[in-house]
Amino acid sequence: MSYQAPLRDMRFVLHELFDVAGHCERLGNGLDRELIDGVLEEAAAFTGNEIAPLNRNSDEEGCRLENGKVTTPKGFRAAYQQYVDNGWASMTGPTDFGGQGFPQLVAFAFHEMLMGASLSFRIYSGLTEGAVLALDKHGSDELKRDYLGKMVSGQWTGTMCLTEPQAGTDLALLRTRAEPQADGSYRVTGNKIFISGGEQDFSENIVHLVLARLPDAPAGVKGISLLLVPKFIANADGTPGAKNALSCGAIEHKMGIKGASTCVMNFDGATGWLVGEANQGLACMFTMMNDARFQVGLQGLGIGEAAFQGALRYARERLQSRGLTGAVAPEKAADPIIVHPDVRRMLLTQKTLVEGCRMLAAYTARQLDLEHGAEEPAARKAAGKRAALLIPIVKAFFTDMGQEVASHAVQVYGGHGFIREWGMEQLMRDSRITQLYEGTNGIQALDLIRRKLLGDGGAELNALIDELAAHARDAAAQPALTESARLVEQRLQQWRELAAQVIANSQADAQEIGAASVDFLQYSAYVLLAGFWLQAAATAQQALDAGTGEAAFYQAKLHSADFYLRRVLPRASSHREALLGGADCLMAMAEESFAF
Ligand SMILES: Cc1cc2nc3c(=O)[nH]c(=O)nc-3n(C[C@H](O)[C@H](O)[C@H](O)COP(=O)(O)OP(=O)(O)OC[C@H]3O[C@@H](n4cnc5c(N)ncnc54)[C@H](O)[C@@H]3O)c2cc1C
Repeated sequence: MSYQAPLRDMRFVLHELFDVAGHCERLGNGLDRELIDGVLEEAAAFTGNEIAPLNRNSDEEGCRLENGKVTTPKGFRAAYQQYVDNGWASMTGPTDFGGQGFPQLVAFAFHEMLMGASLSFRIYSGLTEGAVLALDKHGSDELKRDYLGKMVSGQWTGTMCLTEPQAGTDLALLRTRAEPQADGSYRVTGNKIFISGGEQDFSENIVHLVLARLPDAPAGVKGISLLLVPKFIANADGTPGAKNALSCGAIEHKMGIKGASTCVMNFDGATGWLVGEANQGLACMFTMMNDARFQVGLQGLGIGEAAFQGALRYARERLQSRGLTGAVAPEKAADPIIVHPDVRRMLLTQKTLVEGCRMLAAYTARQLDLEHGAEEPAARKAAGKRAALLIPIVKAFFTDMGQEVASHAVQVYGGHGFIREWGMEQLMRDSRITQLYEGTNGIQALDLIRRKLLGDGGAELNALIDELAAHARDAAAQPALTESARLVEQRLQQWRELAAQVIANSQADAQEIGAASVDFLQYSAYVLLAGFWLQAAATAQQALDAGTGEAAFYQAKLHSADFYLRRVLPRASSHREALLGGADCLMAMAEESFAF
C-alpha cells in the first residue's frame, strides 16, 4: 500500500493556521519557513519511499525470537540505520546532548508521517524519544553522560517497562523489586510483560526505564521508583560493556503491529540506577507517559490518514452502478463509486475527522513547546495546563478516530477491504492497539474528568472555551460564515454548561465520574474540532477573498468545514444525551443479573 504525506494540508495547518515560523521565532530556535518546508519534504520522501514499502511485509513476516534474540522484519534494520544516519532520530532531542531541538509543532508532522507509513516501525523510535525526555528531566548527571547522547542519536533505543501480569492499569499492584547495593546501584528483579521493543536487532544497546519497588517503599503508587536498566552497561568510553542480567523470555503473537516486538522481559538481579528520587517513579514516568500519550494520539492520526488515502484512491477507480440521478461517466461501464452519496459520506467523514484531528494535534504540539520552551514562566505554566487538559482527548479521540476511519476504509473497498492484499484490514488491525496501550481510552476519559475537570473546577476548560469562542466571534464577521459561527458558538456555550453539570453530578455521586467520562470526552472532542474547522473555514475564506490562488484547495476546506458542522458535529448531541442518562442505570443492576 502506498502512502504519501499530506504535505499541502500540513503546510496549511502549520503556516496558515498556527504560524509555525512565528512560533519558532518566539522559541528562538532559528527555524524559518523555508527550512521547515524543506524538512517536511525530506520527511515525506523518507517515509513514502523508504518506510511505507516495508509495512505490508512486516505484517506478513512479523518478529521472531530465537535463543533470546529477536529478529525484526526484513528491511527494518537497514531503514532504522538510515533513520539514525539521516538525523531523524535526533530531531526533537535536547541540543546539549546532540539533539536538534526541533519543536513539536514541526516534529509532530514528521511523526504523523512515520505512523502513517508504518506504525510497527515507528514504535521502536517513539518510545526512545519519551525515555530521552524522562532521563533528561529526572536523571543524574552521570546517567545522562553515559546514556543520553547515544539515545538521542538513536544508536541506543529506550523502552518503558511498567506492565506486569497482575499490574496493567493499576500500577499500585506492581511487584518488581529494586534492592540497593553498596556502590549506589540497585539489583532489579521481576517480570515485565508487553514491553514494546524490549528486544530487537537494530540498536547496539537498549535502555530500559523500569518501574520497581525499593525494599522500604510504602504500599501503592507512592512506593514506586523509576530505574534505568540497560541491556549492556555503558563503558567509560561510551561503548556498550558487560551484558546485564536481563533477557527477553517471549514475544507476543498479536492482532496487529506484528513488525513491532512486544516482549516479556525478565530482570534477574539486573544492575540499575535510580532516575529521580526514590518513590517518585510515577511522577518521573509521567514525563514519558505524557509524551507517549501524545505520540499514541498521532498513531491514530497517521493511520487515519493512510486509510483515507487508500479509500479515496479506490473510490475513484472502482466502477460500480450508476449515480442516482443518471450516469456520471457514461463512457465507462459504470460510474466510479465516489459518485454515490453513501461513499461520499464515508470519505468526507474520514477526511474531516483526520484533518480536524491534525489541527488539534498542531494546537497541542504548540502548547507542549511553550510548556517547555516559552521564556516567561507564566506562559510555560499556562501552556502546561492547556496541554494537560488536551492530552487525554488527543490520545483517546484520535485513536478511536483512527479505528473508525480504518473501518470506513474497509467498507469503501467492499469485500476487497476484507482481503489482505489491499492493506485496509491491516490498518484496522494495527490501529486497534492504540485504543488500549498507554492507558486505555476509558482511563484517558477518567483522567479528563477526575484530574483535569474536577482538579480545577473546570477553570482550564472554560479558558479554552473562551479562546475558541473569541475565534468564533471573529469568524462570524465574515458574511459567508455567519451561520457556521452561530452553530459553533451555540455548541461552545452548551459545552460550558455540560461541563458544569458533569462537575456537579460527579460531586454529588462519584459513580457519575466513570459513567459520564467516555461520552464527555467524545462530546468535548467533537466540539473542539468544530472550533478548529471554523478557524480553517475562516482562513480559507480569507484566502479566497484575497485571491491568493489555489482556489480548489480552499474551496475544499470550506466544503469540508460545512460537512463537518452539519454531518459530524451532531454526534456530540447523542453523547450529551447519553451522559445525562446518569450513572444509576449502570450501577443498579446486580452483578449476577448480567448473566441472565
Ligand atoms: C502490543 C502492546 C504493547 C504494549 N507496550 C507496552 C510497553 O511498551 N510498556 C508497558 O509498560 N506496557 C505496554 N503495554 C501494556 C498496556 O499499556 C496495557 O495493556 C494497558 O495499560 C492496559 O492494561 P491491561 O492490559 O492489564 O488491562 P486492565 O488494566 O486489566 O484493563 C482491562 C479493562 O478494564 C478497564 N479498567 C481497568 N481499570 C479501570 C478503572 N479503574 N476504571 C475503569 N475501567 C478500568 C480497562 O479500561 C480495560 O478496558 C502494551 C500492551 C500491548 C498489547
